[in-house]
Amino acid sequence: MTFSDLGLRAELLRAVEAQGYTTPTPIQLKAIPAVLKGGDLLASAQTGTGKTAGFTLPMLQRLADGPRPAKRQVRALVLTPTRELAAQVGESVADYGRHLTLKSHVIFGGVGQQPQVDAIRGGLDVLVATPGRLLDLQQQKHVDLSRVEILVLDEADRMLDMGFIHDIKKILRVLPEKRQNLLFSATFSNEIQALANKLLDDPAMIEVARRNTTAELVDQAIYRVDREKKRELLAHLITRHDWQQVLVFTRTKHGANRLAEQLSKQDIPAMAIHGNKSQSARTKALAAFKTGDLQVLVATDIAARGLDIEELPHVVNFELPNVAEDYVHRIGRTGRAGSEGKAVSLVCVDEHGLLKGIERLIKRDLEKRIEPGFEPDPNAKPEPIENGRGKRAGGGGRNGGQGQRRQGQAAGQRRSGDEARAPRRRRGGGSGSRQA
Ligand code: AMP
Repeated sequence: MTFSDLGLRAELLRAVEAQGYTTPTPIQLKAIPAVLKGGDLLASAQTGTGKTAGFTLPMLQRLADGPRPAKRQVRALVLTPTRELAAQVGESVADYGRHLTLKSHVIFGGVGQQPQVDAIRGGLDVLVATPGRLLDLQQQKHVDLSRVEILVLDEADRMLDMGFIHDIKKILRVLPEKRQNLLFSATFSNEIQALANKLLDDPAMIEVARRNTTAELVDQAIYRVDREKKRELLAHLITRHDWQQVLVFTRTKHGANRLAEQLSKQDIPAMAIHGNKSQSARTKALAAFKTGDLQVLVATDIAARGLDIEELPHVVNFELPNVAEDYVHRIGRTGRAGSEGKAVSLVCVDEHGLLKGIERLIKRDLEKRIEPGFEPDPNAKPEPIENGRGKRAGGGGRNGGQGQRRQGQAAGQRRSGDEARAPRRRRGGGSGSRQA
């Protein structure tokens, strides 16, 4: 099956070809025809599956057939949880739509609003936005959402986790009744089900196998090691195996900083990205990592979510995540869209409960290894796991982490916008209006 078999028009096929894609991914095979038909869609897919092209290509095709937008009006609205993801989706829209004459723009908080207001003034075919800033602009009447034809909620689970539900509800209230709705989510909690029930009308349902349950492209291994030896083991593995581009996950911002500093001292170039870093620091670190100048990027889950780093060869869980699903997101950073990847987790005695939760979720046992010279102490006692907010997180035995809520994120509480900064700037800036 090729992209042209899916019924895409020539302009889009040319753009896809220019990206170097030859075969549609499983989600694209299913989503493209479903969206072209015009009905609603509920898709379970995470970053790395090719979901962005899965909704962008057919969305652009439908928009190309209709009339241009009037002043301040938006024809297709894509909501994303973070700036990074908004910038990435915006780039995909521009890339795939390069041979069409549609106008698109990306907006998010934390930057000046005037350029965004100016960009929307003439009307947009596609607006990619984070919910908070969009609502601000809508309330000031800078954007008219009453003629939206297509609504996409990308990474809806993460939007709910970040407390955007109230903003989303307010946005839904100003949309027209008749429209096409596409909802993408990596997980299906009760909250997502409730949102889907409210939002979607007889949706086509698409579920693509999670990368880690099939895991054909990601080689996953666990290194058992003592808590105090993790850093040394990480440096040893990187050096011994000559790993070049390594994304390392830590549980806390402080832990990310400390680890990056310590690796740098050992002549392993490393930088940390997380919500307390300025946007420019994060953009700089990410750019250096992508070009290969920076060997190790240490990140917290939120900072790394949605980063499109192509063909990332190594992901290391320096600490296991508190929420088992985050393991899936983390290793989804490697072995993407056809390239092989390795995911390594350093697990100490405190984390055995978290590991069990992950193995339950992915329905398989992970290979356990012990690196000579780093044998764990068989008599070590588990200690409570620090989660960066002074609270004890699950782990240390009984609580496997599965199904656990993220600590400190009560429903309705919006995460500080800071966690959502640093758009990817592959070609000249994430927030410019373009002829898509
Ligand atoms: P996404 O899941 O949308 O974040 O996409 C993950 C990565 O897969 C991105 O780097 C895309 O450029 C790439 N990609 C998307 N579709 C394809 C395809 N059909 N063939 C190869 N790579 C693709």
